[in-house]
Amino acid sequence: MKPLIRLLAAGVLAAALPAAWAQAPAAPAAVTATGKTEVLWLGQAAFRITTPGGKVIVTDPWLRLNPLTPPEYKNLEALGKIDVLLVTHAHFDHFADAPALALLHQVPLHGPGDMNQAVGLLGILPANLVPRFNKSGSITPAPGIKVTAVRAEHSSVLVWKNPATGKDEAHYGGEPVGFIIELENGFRIWHMGDTGLFGDMRFIAEYYKPDLVLMPIGGHFTMDPADAAYATREWIKPKSVIPMHYGANPLGKGTPEQYSRALGASSTRVLPLKPGEKAVF
Ligand SMILES: [Zn+2]
Repeated sequence: MKPLIRLLAAGVLAAALPAAWAQAPAAPAAVTATGKTEVLWLGQAAFRITTPGGKVIVTDPWLRLNPLTPPEYKNLEALGKIDVLLVTHAHFDHFADAPALALLHQVPLHGPGDMNQAVGLLGILPANLVPRFNKSGSITPAPGIKVTAVRAEHSSVLVWKNPATGKDEAHYGGEPVGFIIELENGFRIWHMGDTGLFGDMRFIAEYYKPDLVLMPIGGHFTMDPADAAYATREWIKPKSVIPMHYGANPLGKGTPEQYSRALGASSTRVLPLKPGEKAVF
Protein backbone atom coordinates (compact mmCIF):
# COMPACT_ATOMS: atom_id res chain seq x y z
CA MET A 1 0.00 0.00 0.00
CA LYS A 2 1.39 3.38 -0.98
CA PRO A 3 0.75 5.70 1.95
CA LEU A 4 -0.95 8.94 1.16
CA ILE A 5 0.82 11.67 3.03
CA ARG A 6 -0.81 14.91 3.89
CA LEU A 7 0.22 17.45 6.43
CA LEU A 8 -2.58 19.34 8.07
CA ALA A 9 -2.41 22.22 10.48
CA ALA A 10 -4.84 20.94 13.10
CA GLY A 11 -5.10 24.30 14.80
CA VAL A 12 -6.27 26.27 11.76
CA LEU A 13 -9.95 25.30 11.91
CA ALA A 14 -10.19 25.84 15.64
CA ALA A 15 -8.78 29.34 15.27
CA ALA A 16 -11.45 30.21 12.72
CA LEU A 17 -14.37 29.09 14.89
CA PRO A 18 -16.57 31.61 16.72
CA ALA A 19 -15.33 32.19 20.25
CA ALA A 20 -18.31 30.40 21.83
CA TRP A 21 -17.49 27.29 19.89
CA ALA A 22 -13.82 27.51 20.62
CA GLN A 23 -14.48 27.80 24.36
CA ALA A 24 -17.10 25.06 24.58
CA PRO A 25 -15.81 22.12 26.57
CA ALA A 26 -14.47 19.55 24.18
CA ALA A 27 -17.08 16.84 23.95
CA PRO A 28 -15.56 13.40 23.56
CA ALA A 29 -15.08 13.50 19.82
CA ALA A 30 -16.97 10.96 17.82
CA VAL A 31 -14.22 9.38 15.78
CA THR A 32 -15.40 7.65 12.66
CA ALA A 33 -13.50 4.98 10.86
CA THR A 34 -11.85 6.60 7.86
CA GLY A 35 -9.69 3.74 6.69
CA LYS A 36 -6.69 6.04 7.13
CA THR A 37 -4.10 6.44 9.85
CA GLU A 38 -3.60 9.93 11.28
CA VAL A 39 -0.49 10.63 13.33
CA LEU A 40 -0.68 13.94 15.21
CA TRP A 41 2.49 15.16 16.99
CA LEU A 42 2.04 17.08 20.24
CA GLY A 43 5.72 17.69 21.04
CA GLN A 44 8.50 15.52 22.53
CA ALA A 45 7.25 11.87 22.34
CA ALA A 46 3.53 12.65 22.60
CA PHE A 47 1.39 11.54 19.66
CA ARG A 48 -2.29 11.01 19.06
CA ILE A 49 -2.73 8.24 16.51
CA THR A 50 -6.17 7.71 14.98
CA THR A 51 -6.37 4.26 13.45
CA PRO A 52 -8.11 3.17 10.23
CA GLY A 53 -10.88 1.68 12.39
CA GLY A 54 -11.41 4.93 14.34
CA LYS A 55 -9.54 3.98 17.53
CA VAL A 56 -7.49 6.65 19.28
CA ILE A 57 -4.05 5.80 20.67
CA VAL A 58 -2.15 8.35 22.78
CA THR A 59 1.56 7.92 23.51
CA ASP A 60 3.79 9.53 26.16
CA PRO A 61 1.41 12.35 27.08
CA TRP A 62 3.47 15.24 28.44
CA LEU A 63 1.12 18.06 27.51
CA ARG A 64 0.23 20.59 30.18
CA LEU A 65 3.85 21.62 30.89
CA ASN A 66 5.32 20.73 27.50
CA PRO A 67 6.48 24.00 25.89
CA LEU A 68 5.90 22.53 22.41
CA THR A 69 2.31 21.36 22.94
CA PRO A 70 -0.13 23.70 21.16
CA PRO A 71 -2.35 25.53 23.69
CA GLU A 72 -5.51 23.82 22.43
CA TYR A 73 -4.15 20.45 23.56
CA LYS A 74 -3.09 21.54 27.05
CA ASN A 75 -6.65 20.96 28.20
CA LEU A 76 -6.52 17.18 28.51
CA GLU A 77 -10.19 16.82 27.58
CA ALA A 78 -9.41 18.37 24.19
CA LEU A 79 -7.76 15.15 23.12
CA GLY A 80 -11.23 13.62 22.83
CA LYS A 81 -11.79 9.96 23.55
CA ILE A 82 -8.81 7.71 24.15
CA ASP A 83 -8.98 3.97 23.54
CA VAL A 84 -5.33 3.08 24.15
CA LEU A 85 -2.80 4.86 26.39
CA LEU A 86 0.88 3.94 26.02
CA VAL A 87 3.85 5.17 28.08
CA THR A 88 7.41 4.15 27.21
CA HIS A 89 9.04 4.94 30.58
CA ALA A 90 8.61 6.87 33.80
CA HIS A 91 10.49 10.12 33.05
CA PHE A 92 8.21 13.12 33.48
CA ASP A 93 8.42 14.20 29.84
CA HIS A 94 6.67 10.93 28.93
CA PHE A 95 4.64 9.99 31.99
CA ALA A 96 3.43 13.35 33.35
CA ASP A 97 -0.19 13.52 32.20
CA ALA A 98 -0.73 9.78 31.78
CA PRO A 99 -2.32 9.10 35.20
CA ALA A 100 -4.79 11.97 34.73
CA LEU A 101 -5.76 10.70 31.28
CA ALA A 102 -6.11 7.11 32.55
CA LEU A 103 -8.49 8.31 35.25
CA LEU A 104 -10.38 10.69 32.96
CA HIS A 105 -11.10 8.01 30.37
CA GLN A 106 -10.89 4.97 32.65
CA VAL A 107 -8.40 3.41 30.22
CA PRO A 108 -5.46 1.31 31.37
CA LEU A 109 -2.01 2.86 31.24
CA HIS A 110 0.15 0.37 29.34
CA GLY A 111 3.85 0.74 30.08
CA PRO A 112 6.87 -1.21 31.34
CA GLY A 113 5.62 -3.87 33.75
CA ASP A 114 7.80 -2.81 36.66
CA MET A 115 6.95 0.86 36.20
CA ASN A 116 3.29 -0.05 36.38
CA GLN A 117 3.88 -2.09 39.52
CA ALA A 118 5.41 0.95 41.22
CA VAL A 119 2.59 3.20 39.96
CA GLY A 120 0.05 0.82 41.45
CA LEU A 121 1.86 0.24 44.75
CA LEU A 122 2.32 3.97 45.30
CA GLY A 123 -1.41 4.46 44.74
CA ILE A 124 -0.95 6.80 41.76
CA LEU A 125 -3.47 4.66 39.86
CA PRO A 126 -5.72 1.80 40.94
CA ALA A 127 -4.57 -1.71 40.05
CA ASN A 128 -7.13 -2.13 37.26
CA LEU A 129 -5.57 0.79 35.34
CA VAL A 130 -1.95 -0.47 35.53
CA PRO A 131 -1.85 -3.90 33.86
CA ARG A 132 1.63 -5.31 33.32
CA PHE A 133 3.52 -6.66 30.34
CA ASN A 134 7.14 -6.70 29.29
CA LYS A 135 9.59 -6.77 26.39
CA SER A 136 8.60 -9.15 23.56
CA GLY A 137 5.18 -9.38 25.16
CA SER A 138 2.17 -8.38 23.09
CA ILE A 139 -1.22 -7.08 24.13
CA THR A 140 -4.44 -6.36 22.27
CA PRO A 141 -5.60 -3.22 24.06
CA ALA A 142 -8.45 -2.65 21.57
CA PRO A 143 -9.93 -4.91 18.90
CA GLY A 144 -7.57 -5.08 15.92
CA ILE A 145 -4.74 -3.22 17.69
CA LYS A 146 -1.65 -5.19 18.71
CA VAL A 147 1.10 -3.60 20.79
CA THR A 148 4.45 -5.26 21.45
CA ALA A 149 7.02 -3.87 23.87
CA VAL A 150 10.58 -3.81 22.54
CA ARG A 151 13.94 -2.74 23.87
CA ALA A 152 14.99 0.89 24.22
CA GLU A 153 18.49 1.88 25.36
CA HIS A 154 17.68 4.36 28.10
CA SER A 155 16.73 4.53 31.81
CA SER A 156 13.53 5.04 33.79
CA VAL A 157 13.13 6.56 37.25
CA LEU A 158 9.73 7.40 38.67
CA VAL A 159 9.84 10.62 40.67
CA TRP A 160 6.85 10.89 42.98
CA LYS A 161 5.97 13.55 45.53
CA ASN A 162 5.04 11.76 48.73
CA PRO A 163 1.94 13.54 50.01
CA ALA A 164 2.82 12.60 53.60
CA THR A 165 6.20 14.38 53.52
CA GLY A 166 5.78 16.77 50.58
CA LYS A 167 9.18 15.55 49.31
CA ASP A 168 10.11 14.08 45.95
CA GLU A 169 11.12 10.43 46.09
CA ALA A 170 12.86 8.37 43.38
CA HIS A 171 11.25 4.99 42.70
CA TYR A 172 12.20 2.19 40.32
CA GLY A 173 10.53 2.91 37.01
CA GLY A 174 11.16 -0.41 35.29
CA GLU A 175 13.15 -0.76 32.08
CA PRO A 176 12.23 1.67 29.33
CA VAL A 177 10.63 0.28 26.20
CA GLY A 178 9.60 1.17 22.70
CA PHE A 179 6.36 -0.07 21.15
CA ILE A 180 5.53 -1.80 17.89
CA ILE A 181 1.94 -0.73 17.27
CA GLU A 182 0.13 -2.76 14.63
CA LEU A 183 -3.15 -1.31 13.38
CA GLU A 184 -6.26 -2.97 11.96
CA ASN A 185 -4.93 -2.88 8.39
CA GLY A 186 -1.50 -4.27 9.28
CA PHE A 187 0.24 -0.85 9.23
CA ARG A 188 3.03 -0.95 11.80
CA ILE A 189 4.37 1.98 13.76
CA TRP A 190 7.53 1.74 15.88
CA HIS A 191 7.45 4.32 18.65
CA MET A 192 11.08 4.05 19.74
CA GLY A 193 10.61 5.80 23.08
CA ASP A 194 13.80 7.43 24.31
CA THR A 195 16.78 5.49 23.08
CA GLY A 196 20.43 5.63 22.24
CA LEU A 197 21.87 3.56 19.41
CA PHE A 198 21.92 -0.19 19.92
CA GLY A 199 22.66 -2.91 17.40
CA ASP A 200 19.40 -4.79 17.87
CA MET A 201 17.52 -1.93 16.21
CA ARG A 202 18.44 -3.91 13.12
CA PHE A 203 16.85 -7.06 14.55
CA ILE A 204 13.70 -5.22 15.63
CA ALA A 205 13.31 -3.75 12.14
CA GLU A 206 13.96 -7.11 10.49
CA TYR A 207 11.54 -8.98 12.76
CA TYR A 208 8.66 -6.50 13.09
CA LYS A 209 9.04 -4.64 9.75
CA PRO A 210 7.71 -1.23 10.81
CA ASP A 211 6.25 1.02 8.09
CA LEU A 212 6.62 4.21 10.12
CA VAL A 213 9.18 4.95 12.84
CA LEU A 214 8.73 7.70 15.44
CA MET A 215 12.40 8.41 16.12
CA PRO A 216 14.15 10.51 18.77
CA ILE A 217 16.78 12.85 17.29
CA GLY A 218 17.41 15.50 19.95
CA GLY A 219 20.66 14.11 21.38
CA HIS A 220 21.99 14.38 24.96
CA PHE A 221 19.40 11.96 26.40
CA THR A 222 18.83 10.03 23.15
CA MET A 223 20.25 9.57 19.68
CA ASP A 224 21.32 12.76 17.97
CA PRO A 225 20.65 13.45 14.27
CA ALA A 226 23.80 11.63 13.10
CA ASP A 227 23.01 8.57 15.26
CA ALA A 228 19.40 8.52 14.09
CA ALA A 229 20.48 8.85 10.45
CA TYR A 230 22.89 5.93 10.84
CA ALA A 231 20.18 3.74 12.39
CA THR A 232 17.72 4.71 9.65
CA ARG A 233 20.11 4.16 6.76
CA GLU A 234 22.06 1.11 7.91
CA TRP A 235 19.65 -0.83 10.10
CA ILE A 236 15.98 0.10 10.02
CA LYS A 237 15.29 1.33 6.45
CA PRO A 238 11.61 2.11 7.06
CA LYS A 239 9.27 3.71 4.53
CA SER A 240 8.75 6.78 6.73
CA VAL A 241 10.21 8.49 9.79
CA ILE A 242 8.67 11.22 11.93
CA PRO A 243 11.44 12.84 14.03
CA MET A 244 10.57 13.45 17.68
CA HIS A 245 12.10 14.29 21.07
CA TYR A 246 13.89 17.52 20.16
CA GLY A 247 13.42 21.21 20.82
CA ALA A 248 11.49 20.92 24.09
CA ASN A 249 14.50 22.00 26.17
CA PRO A 250 17.94 23.48 25.42
CA LEU A 251 19.62 20.06 25.66
CA GLY A 252 17.61 18.49 22.84
CA LYS A 253 19.44 20.45 20.16
CA GLY A 254 19.07 18.10 17.18
CA THR A 255 16.83 19.25 14.35
CA PRO A 256 14.99 17.46 11.53
CA GLU A 257 17.13 19.42 9.05
CA GLN A 258 20.32 18.02 10.58
CA TYR A 259 18.81 14.55 10.55
CA SER A 260 17.76 14.81 6.89
CA ARG A 261 21.18 16.15 5.92
CA ALA A 262 22.94 13.33 7.77
CA LEU A 263 20.63 10.78 6.14
CA GLY A 264 21.33 12.05 2.62
CA ALA A 265 19.68 10.36 -0.36
CA SER A 266 17.47 7.63 1.02
CA SER A 267 14.35 5.63 0.22
CA THR A 268 13.04 6.62 3.67
CA ARG A 269 10.68 9.58 3.65
CA VAL A 270 11.32 12.04 6.49
CA LEU A 271 8.16 13.78 7.68
CA PRO A 272 9.14 16.66 9.97
CA LEU A 273 5.94 17.72 11.73
CA LYS A 274 5.40 20.88 13.69
CA PRO A 275 3.57 20.35 16.99
CA GLY A 276 -0.14 20.16 16.16
CA GLU A 277 0.45 18.89 12.63
CA LYS A 278 -0.48 15.45 11.47
CA ALA A 279 0.63 13.03 8.80
CA VAL A 280 -1.96 10.81 7.15
CA PHE A 281 -1.18 7.38 5.75
ZN1 LIG B 1 12.43 11.95 27.23
